[in-house]
Amino acid sequence: MQKINKELLIIGSGPAGLGAAIYAYRSGINFSITDKYMAGGQVITTDIIDNYPGFDNDISGYDLMQNIISHVKKFGVEIIEFCEISEIKISKDFSKKIICSSENFQFSTKTIIFATGASPKKLGAEGEDEFIGKGISFCATCDGALYKDKEVAVIGGGNAAIEEALFLTKFASKVHVIHRRDELRASKVIQEKGFANKKMNFILSSEVIKFKGKNRIEEIVLKNKKTSEIKALKIDGVFEYVGINPNSQLLNGLVDFDEYGYILTDKNLQTSFPGIFAAGDVRNTPLKQVITAVADGAVAATSAEKYLSGIL
Ligand SMILES: Cc1cc2nc3c(=O)[nH]c(=O)nc-3n(C[C@H](O)[C@H](O)[C@H](O)COP(=O)(O)OP(=O)(O)OC[C@H]3O[C@@H](n4cnc5c(N)ncnc54)[C@H](O)[C@@H]3O)c2cc1C
Repeated sequence: MQKINKELLIIGSGPAGLGAAIYAYRSGINFSITDKYMAGGQVITTDIIDNYPGFDNDISGYDLMQNIISHVKKFGVEIIEFCEISEIKISKDFSKKIICSSENFQFSTKTIIFATGASPKKLGAEGEDEFIGKGISFCATCDGALYKDKEVAVIGGGNAAIEEALFLTKFASKVHVIHRRDELRASKVIQEKGFANKKMNFILSSEVIKFKGKNRIEEIVLKNKKTSEIKALKIDGVFEYVGINPNSQLLNGLVDFDEYGYILTDKNLQTSFPGIFAAGDVRNTPLKQVITAVADGAVAATSAEKYLSGIL
């Protein structure tokens, strides 16, 4: 077990964590940054980002994050990847020593920026767990190419669902979009693109009640919420986009959450526990996007520096 002593530990290397790293470096803070997977965060799974300022050529999420990672590494910052922080302990004498542990590292730190983002929600329907990774996916960019000339279903009606369904039409022969309400939640512009695409078929007011198959998913069973009619749909793959859950569990009992488990912060992005800050999708933010996550990281790092200097 390697022991590392720092002024700041940034947990998570998505847009928020990387934004924090740039500002922490420039504030002269002695810090580490980790990620339980490779750096980049959830946005690396998306094909096109067309709302991040300065990139008007439809850059992919992966490329955008590689640019930001290079920027961070240019400062000589080492991102400790595949290092999942699994425990946070506060020292008894309250000397602001916080111990964060992963399998191979133990960090003692005075402050934390919690930038652990969010993970996709599951539907909770019968058979779902059995077919995750066997035809059920949460990432069209990662798995879409496997479905050339096949039929897939996308579950969800928000921007992410329709954007990813549009991406899947590059490969699949048919993309069924299944949404439990009678109208989509996606923005008008994205809806129009979806309705205009001949490969897309919209099945509204319907929910998936069962996933079926032998070794892989073969069929989903749908229930019409208005008529209660049950019908089966043969399918080669399913992509779920039904929302996200904050990755905040590690701070259970330590800081205040909102009713959905998002971390509550003040204007400096400090949580209810002094010295612990939260940034990006994991906190109760009104907009969950790359631009706001990066900006949160900057605010949190600046606040951490003020806290370390005794002026916050
Ligand atoms: C399909 C899709 C499309 C999207 N499209 C857009 C778009 O076009 N434009 C846009 O602006 N936004 C888009 N978003 C939203 C954007 O991805 C998020 O708002 C943004 O990634 C949030 O950044 P974050 O750093 O807060 O969290 P995340 O990106 O979730 O990063 C959190 C990081 O923390 C790590 N982590 C979690 N727990 C631990 C732990 N215990 N220890 C160590 N590391 C941990 C995770 O592995 C992850 O890398 C999209 C999201 C999805 C899923």
